[in-house]
Amino acid sequence: MSDIDKIYYCNHCKNFLGELEELLFVEEGTSKGFCSEDCIEKFYQHLVDHFENLDKEYRKELGLSEESCLKFVGKPKLMEMVLSSPNEIWHTSNEIQEEYFSFIRKVTQKGEDPFYLIIICLIYDNKPSFILSATATRDNALIDKYRGEKKLDNNMVSTGEELGDVEEGFQTVEIE
Ligand SMILES: [Zn+2]
Repeated sequence: MSDIDKIYYCNHCKNFLGELEELLFVEEGTSKGFCSEDCIEKFYQHLVDHFENLDKEYRKELGLSEESCLKFVGKPKLMEMVLSSPNEIWHTSNEIQEEYFSFIRKVTQKGEDPFYLIIICLIYDNKPSFILSATATRDNALIDKYRGEKKLDNNMVSTGEELGDVEEGFQTVEIE
């Protein structure tokens, strides 16, 4: 018989890979696999740009001037903190089951009023797998824009290695 069932390829560069194990995945429940971090970044670049524009639009709409807390966006330690112990995790999916997750955490830094760091990411294996967008704000209306459809139970997200695999997957918490 043929080896048609062994056909695996990168969703970005379309190169064929010898083994399924060579594919990298960043989204749960899809067959989108990639050959490298580089291809993952390129594949999702349009979404990164889209979320960047969306943040600009939101800020314009809300009349938010350049907030001083924006300088903390992208600081590795803070980003890690948000992803490993968020105050809130929100889930949104569209009609074709494409999913986005918002991680929100209150952050305090010396000499700064507390602010919120918001990360939109993809999830694979119940862990944040790829960051699409990050922003910081003290404005409640802007935070609201990033809250998704459903608030998830933080405990159901395996954010630290020590938690191991969470077999059950996400449990959703209905917001009243
Ligand atoms: Zn590739």
